[in-house]
Parts: sequence; C-alpha cells; structure tokens
Amino acid sequence: MLIPDIIIAIDGYSSTGKSTFAKRIAAEVSFLYLDSGALYRAVTLYAIEKGIISPAGNIDRHALCRALDGLDIHFESKGNGSRTYIGDRCVEGEIRTLAVSEHVSPVSAVPEVRSFIDDRLREFGRRKRVVMDGRDIGTTVFPDAELKIFMTADQMVRARRRADEMKKRGENVDPEEVLKNIRERDFIDSHRDTSPLSMAEDAVVLDNSYMTIEEQMVWFRRLVAERFPMKES
Ligand code: C5P
Repeated sequence: MLIPDIIIAIDGYSSTGKSTFAKRIAAEVSFLYLDSGALYRAVTLYAIEKGIISPAGNIDRHALCRALDGLDIHFESKGNGSRTYIGDRCVEGEIRTLAVSEHVSPVSAVPEVRSFIDDRLREFGRRKRVVMDGRDIGTTVFPDAELKIFMTADQMVRARRRADEMKKRGENVDPEEVLKNIRERDFIDSHRDTSPLSMAEDAVVLDNSYMTIEEQMVWFRRLVAERFPMKES
C-alpha cells in the first residue's frame, strides 16, 4: 500500500490489541514496528531482578534513577519488527509475564524513567517510516506524528484476550487476576502526573471490541486512503 514517509502513533488502553494491529500495519506499509511498552517492561524486569522493587511492590526511586544511568536497554531488529534486549540478553519472553505486568505501571509513572525511554524512542522517529504503539506516543513522544490512532475496547474483552495470550505461552492464569491487573493499569496509566494516557486531539478512535483484525485493517486502509490520497504510478 502506498503511503508517504510518516510516523504512525498508536495509543490506547492495555490489551486493546495495539501491538497486533501495529505489526500488521507495519507489514502492510513496510514500516518499522516498535513497541514502546516493551522498554517500560524491560526497565521493570531489570528493577525486579536487582531488588529495586520489593516483593510488596515498593520502588526504591533513588536506586531506580541510579540504575538508569548506563542501563543498556534496546531493540534489535528482526524482520520488520524487533526484539527487546537488556545488554546482550534477549528478554522478549520474560517481559510479558504477569510479575512484570503487575509492577510496570508504577515504574512507568516515574518521570526519570519516562524521559530515559522517550530519548530512545525519539531516535527511531528521525527517519520516519515507523509505527509505534504505547500510551503517549501521539501526545508526548511524537506530538507531530502525521497519523494518530487511539485504541479502546471493553474491559472484559481485553481481559479475555490477555488471558488467552498468556495461556498460549503456557502461563498459569487466573482470569480474575488478569482483569484486576488491567483495571489497575488503566487507572494508574490514566492518572499519573507525567504523560498520562490520554487521547491526542487529532487522534482517530478505533473501538475494536467486536472487530476482527481483518476488519481493523479494512478500517485502516480506508483511513489512509482518505488522509493520504496517493496515485499508484
Ligand atoms: O503496552 P504494554 O501493555 O506492554 O505496556 C506496559 C505498560 O507500560 C503500560 O501499562 C504502561 O504503564 C506503560 N507504558 C507507558 N507508556 C507507553 C507504553 C507503555 O506508560 N508509551
């Protein structure tokens, strides 16, 4: 599909299918796909492993800020997607566990963590041709992104999707726990002081509660055709 060199920002609530949709878009328009949440998850995993987060969930903020200095968290590309690394260790699987999900929102609310990650994300935007998903991509990371999509879906539908995903990975899941985690993350993400989850004024809403991924792609193609009419040469 023909599209100019732009940045596509996809924001929205947890488990609304942002990454599935963003990956499909990236493949369709031959852009790079980047999952900003993966970097927040990697910082959280690191903090858990280093004991910066206590088992009760208390964060030693000073230790966390010190740890950011020199912390090597990055993406390595694979196809038109990427995998998340801490140093030379691929942590793509470990960052998706419930243990990380339970602590990631408070870690993401720390302003120093946000600016550490924003710097890394903005590097990728320099060359455009990026689809990035997260919570504040269209509002804070790339406020000038040429196309912004805000995704939402019913909380029960989201909990079921997340539980199915975790089951597929062989994790033991309690659906109630998953729903509780989604509710908590929605609340913390929308109420934190720095870059709360909110919709950019120029974003287009996609509620995909009852849409298949194919239907979402039809919706996306129509949106692009309207916004960026281009002639096939
Ligand atoms: O997208 P995902 O659910 O993997 O993101 C994990 C968490 O990272 C979110 O619940 C949110 O707390 C945080 N996040 C964020 N800003 C982003 C992306 C993710 O605060 N741009």
